Amino acid sequence: MYEYACPQCSRVTSLYWRNYAPPETATCEGCGESGAERKFSTFALHKTAATKMEELDPKYDKMVDEAFQNAPATSDPKHYLDKMASFDGLPDRSDS
Ligand SMILES: [Zn+2]
Repeated sequence: MYEYACPQCSRVTSLYWRNYAPPETATCEGCGESGAERKFSTFALHKTAATKMEELDPKYDKMVDEAFQNAPATSDPKHYLDKMASFDGLPDRSDS
């Protein structure tokens, strides 16, 4: 089951969808607006990790962050990013 939030009247419309890829938008039950946007419901948590990756679920990003925090510092990409950011004299990328 997926939930869609209507931008017009803020009503949440629930939609049962058996396929793995539900539509991004649905028709609002309240005002008929067709642009109700899909929300991540609690049911989405039961989908496979692969599906979460495909949908770029924000919860997956949090899982990745936690995995980084649990990993040794030498294998943590953020560790290298911090070291790279400490270098001086690099051109400002916003100029180019
Ligand atoms: Zn509506």
